[in-house]
Amino acid sequence: MAIKQLTETIINQIAAGEVIERPASVVKELVENAIDAGATRIDIVTAGGGKNLIRVSDNGSGIPSDELTLAVARHCTSKLTDNVHDIRALGFRGEALPSIGSVSRLSVKSRIAEADSGFEINVHGGRLEGPRPTPMNGGTIAEVRDLFFATPARLKFMKTDRAEASAISDVVKRVAIAFPHIRFSIAGSDRTPLDLAATGTGSTGMLERISQVLGKEFPENAIAIDAMRDGVRLSGFAGIPAFNRANSLQQFAYVNGRPVRDKQIWGAIRGAFADVISRDRHPVVVLFLNLDPALVDVNVHPAKADVRFRDPGLVRGLIVGAIREALGQSGIRAATSGAEAMLNSFRLGGVEPIRPAAAQRWQGAAAVNQNYNVQQSPYRPFAMEPAARHGGEGFAETVQAFLYDGATALAADTRAGMAEAPQELLSAPLGAARAQIHANYIVSQTEDSLVIVDQHAAHERLVYEALKNALHSKSLPAQMLLIPEIVDLPEEDVGRLVAHAETLARFGLGIESFGPGAIAVRETPSMLGEIDTQKLIRDLADEIAEHDTSDGLKAILNHVAATMACHGSVRAGRRLKPDEMNALLRQMEETPGSGTCNHGRPTYIELKLTDIERLFGRR
Ligand code: ADP
Ligand code: MG
Repeated sequence: MAIKQLTETIINQIAAGEVIERPASVVKELVENAIDAGATRIDIVTAGGGKNLIRVSDNGSGIPSDELTLAVARHCTSKLTDNVHDIRALGFRGEALPSIGSVSRLSVKSRIAEADSGFEINVHGGRLEGPRPTPMNGGTIAEVRDLFFATPARLKFMKTDRAEASAISDVVKRVAIAFPHIRFSIAGSDRTPLDLAATGTGSTGMLERISQVLGKEFPENAIAIDAMRDGVRLSGFAGIPAFNRANSLQQFAYVNGRPVRDKQIWGAIRGAFADVISRDRHPVVVLFLNLDPALVDVNVHPAKADVRFRDPGLVRGLIVGAIREALGQSGIRAATSGAEAMLNSFRLGGVEPIRPAAAQRWQGAAAVNQNYNVQQSPYRPFAMEPAARHGGEGFAETVQAFLYDGATALAADTRAGMAEAPQELLSAPLGAARAQIHANYIVSQTEDSLVIVDQHAAHERLVYEALKNALHSKSLPAQMLLIPEIVDLPEEDVGRLVAHAETLARFGLGIESFGPGAIAVRETPSMLGEIDTQKLIRDLADEIAEHDTSDGLKAILNHVAATMACHGSVRAGRRLKPDEMNALLRQMEETPGSGTCNHGRPTYIELKLTDIERLFGRR
């Protein structure tokens, strides 16, 4: 085939392939244009998840009638002079309107303050009409109908109206956080309306807008961040570790006011929270980076959500340092790091054994302490009678009595509480349960080791496997609630949950929508026992939101099972009888993958007798 120049419409459609991925991308571009035009009020109307209609009206500067044709032409922009490294507006590529016009029926109406009337221009699948006069108030109304009618292949990739409508809300909320002085509203037959009143400028206005979007709980559970390094300013809020979520949708980052989804920034946030949040949970954060536009390249991708920093190390260090410092100041420390180090030294045998000479010295010191009185010792054996029984003969006899009575008491205790471990239990991989300590750890004994089981983690894994099994056979039994529990949720979450109601019912979780902003829970899976229904529903909504789009039904089922398992597990704090402990150990041995919990943490650790002997300097 001979080489030919592509037509303008084809060129625009190719560009649209990158810039306009789905209805939410159109809304993002149109809202950015309105913000760049200095609007203080932006109203959005959608229908059919934005596929049938998107209308964005603003009270910004408007477009002069003689520039309307340019506005919808490719590579025409009012926002860039001749320096592509000095970008101060959200737009700069002059690509959005022509791209949208090439794949939809676009109408742009606009009126500047000085004009007596507005003007309208239409672009239908790349075909231009107008401009012609039209009555309107000052500002701009961009209307997009039948998105992707000109590129049916793309239309096939659209999700349900509900999913697209909620993606639009997400885009608007994300951008709204950075512009609290602008009032945003979204309405339409495909949604319940959202109205974000202008909250003013400054940090109070910002905080108020953040509460509008993330809920009032966030500021109550967040720490303000304000740090500066080498001309880069970082401000915003970091949620405390306990206020974590099941996905990262609640992480908002802005570079010079532009919402970005940037891997480096996510990585830095993850790093900052690494030892205070488990790997499968995500903190809630709102971060604003402000720096000289010349130090950051936003021209990385047509959608302008990726950025490249001149000095990525500086930005990462700033984010990690500032968040850690904020968390530290508020008294939340990396409580796990000390325990981790100790565990390592157990595993690696890194503890310096007590040298025999030192041990000797210690014994000697005790032996000469003639004033020692075992009766006064907090360590005195419980079964010990007053010294009178031994005639109060002195230290040596007292110690003798201590050893003797102590041993008897312990032996008696063992007999009462736990039978001598039968050989077949000792030779099982996880051994015979000997005790439960701190109401969560089962200590068991095998022929040649000591095993410590995290009963919560282990049980969670077992419930998870049982739930997964149940999926392949029949539905799980459910337990009716006497009074349905009502859970208030954002409208998108309600939609997502209701869409999966049938799936959830197979697990024994009976839900239905209770108005646009709430879910009524009628049944819960019997297997889970007493659960925090509110939290379960919220976590499930998060899981579904995260995996709905990409992973298909099977993955969602697994995630739902994992979330339920976590809620239904034997929580730390429940005392188990010896039989129950042994039953748990045997179940673990039979269940594939039971060595780690659903979050990838170990469910048990094993200390070989040889390791123990090394710790005591016997080897
Ligand atoms: P870009 O935003 O990258 O400049 P667009 O294709 O989105 O490119 O818009 C082209 C031009 O049309 C803008 O540079 C701007 O001058 C004008 N324009 C678009 N939308 C609006 C609006 N809502 N208000 C005022 N001017 C607008
Ligand atoms: Mg634009």
